[in-house]
Amino acid sequence: MWAATLETILLLHLFVLLPLQGVGAVTEFDQAATSRSLKQEAGQRHEVHCSRERSRAAWKAIAEYLIPFVDEEQYELPKKCRLNPENDMFRDQEQHKIHVDTNEWRCGFCRKSFRAEKFLDQHFDNRHYNQLNDSQGRCLADLCGALHCDFVIDSKKTKTKCNPAAAARNRHLCESLADSCFPLNKGQSASRLHEFFLRQFCDAHTCAGGKKPFSRGGKKESSVFYLAVCILVVMLLPLFYTVVYLQQREMNKGVQVLKRISKPGLKTKPS
Ligand SMILES: [Zn+2]
Repeated sequence: MWAATLETILLLHLFVLLPLQGVGAVTEFDQAATSRSLKQEAGQRHEVHCSRERSRAAWKAIAEYLIPFVDEEQYELPKKCRLNPENDMFRDQEQHKIHVDTNEWRCGFCRKSFRAEKFLDQHFDNRHYNQLNDSQGRCLADLCGALHCDFVIDSKKTKTKCNPAAAARNRHLCESLADSCFPLNKGQSASRLHEFFLRQFCDAHTCAGGKKPFSRGGKKESSVFYLAVCILVVMLLPLFYTVVYLQQREMNKGVQVLKRISKPGLKTKPS
């Protein structure tokens, strides 16, 4: 009897709560924070109500479009700044993902292997949930509105209609992040990054249009640039050696004596 009741409760969890989480993942980003706090108030303490997927998108935005510039300024994000990697509850787990092969993901805690990343995610949820510090302010997905997660996930998908109230809310969240992470009284680097953050992340929160997020570019662009340079160098190297080889051959054809006369520079070389 009790076992049956327990089973019903478990099934209810599976069929009611899991789809709810799925809906949470696709709902408009500006609602993420409110839905989370509502769920918390409902008193389900042992469940983690923070989307791993959207947290990952938020982290991607930070890692690609902010951290390189923060590093450049040699600035250290304050502990209370929610963009600080230490304030991402999934960071530790994400860093324990080992991508061995296209079809092999390994758990860095217990070395178990999985066919796909999503199975490793499930494994983390089931086996290593005790590693999660689910305290207040550690859900990066809650910042998705400010950090343009939807754009990170799919940059081609354009919103059909802009909601001025949502845009204003996201802008406010964005500006509060700028204030807490780059306080204007914390020196020149902080001031420069404050300004940069507003341009890079906050300006696009408007219905006026014409403003794209990440206007200052990101890490990816520079790496593409370096890749292009590397390819160019690799392609030019054979050409360079061919020219050198042909020149050498041309010189060897000439008479030894003539060669010596025509190249007086050789004399300076120690014998
Ligand atoms: Zn494991």
